[in-house]
Amino acid sequence: MPELRQNMATREWVIIATERARRPEEFAEVSRVRTHTRPQRVEKCPFCPGNEHMTPAATLAIEDGEGWGVRVFNNLYSALGDGPVSERVMEGLHRHMSGVGRHEVVVESPRHNTTTALMSVQEVARFLRAFQVRTEEASRDERVLLTICFKNHGAAAGASLEHPHGQILCLPVVPLQLRSRAHDAMTYFDEHGSCVFCDMWRQEIADGVRVVVEGKHSVSFVPFAAFSPFHIWIVPKRHAALFVQTRPDELEDIASVLRTTLAKLYWGLGDPDYNWMIRAAPNHHGTSRSYHWYLSVVPRVSKMAGFELGAGMFINSALPEQSARFLREVQVPDVVPST
Ligand SMILES: [Zn+2]
Ligand SMILES: [Zn+2]
Repeated sequence: MPELRQNMATREWVIIATERARRPEEFAEVSRVRTHTRPQRVEKCPFCPGNEHMTPAATLAIEDGEGWGVRVFNNLYSALGDGPVSERVMEGLHRHMSGVGRHEVVVESPRHNTTTALMSVQEVARFLRAFQVRTEEASRDERVLLTICFKNHGAAAGASLEHPHGQILCLPVVPLQLRSRAHDAMTYFDEHGSCVFCDMWRQEIADGVRVVVEGKHSVSFVPFAAFSPFHIWIVPKRHAALFVQTRPDELEDIASVLRTTLAKLYWGLGDPDYNWMIRAAPNHHGTSRSYHWYLSVVPRVSKMAGFELGAGMFINSALPEQSARFLREVQVPDVVPST
């Protein structure tokens, strides 16, 4: 019998299709050109060193001794524009406002043929720090209500360029999904006197069966009601509503957990395409005791179809406990094999 499960933090239901569940190894990409087999520098890549003139000027560059190690700049194809604080306008039933905000690109490494799974923990911590610095800067911008840090890895995840990079989008509105999650978290706090995310990571560590990697300050696990195969949450253990509130030692631990988790996906499933997103509270809810930031990883190993669009809920064809056990058992090589 298939099982319906509910995520207590998001309140979303999912169908866990036990009858037609696939074995974890069946999700592996077999014909993929893996990231580590690409050239280290690509002549025409706008994000490779030496091609800085092909992008806008850096808003942040972190040096690594020989040049930049991380480079941030405004997105050439920005989804939002510059301008004064925008007013909402109603015309009949149509509400609109001008699209002011920020949209930056974070190039995570000068090397074209790397990705988080192949980097050192220090390199991962360095680009996460760049996300933090720019998010902090955006939080002082009165036009910005919410900042989303995210990464698209691979074409199926929406990446148009191969070079490892993430993006920061700062919005002048709070999207419905985040508003309803913040509201649900507040309702849970009201009923239980605790944060649902704090309760969730503690229960996941106590249960153990869905944990992928546990660090000192953070833990990655496949949620009980994961909405897709190998969907993973990385939750910091100390309660904080905003990503920018995380301390350097905690960030280094998160970098280590993120790196190992993504390395297990890389070596276990053959470098699948994925997205990760940082889910943080709106800037003006920074002191919230009920909302807790976390990082969500969604490997693109299954497709969203009509049912998902129509119902607003998912069918997961992998068992969360099996996915987590598979990832726990993946051995990550110390040295990336040369090609
Ligand atoms: Zn490149
Ligand atoms: Zn919490």
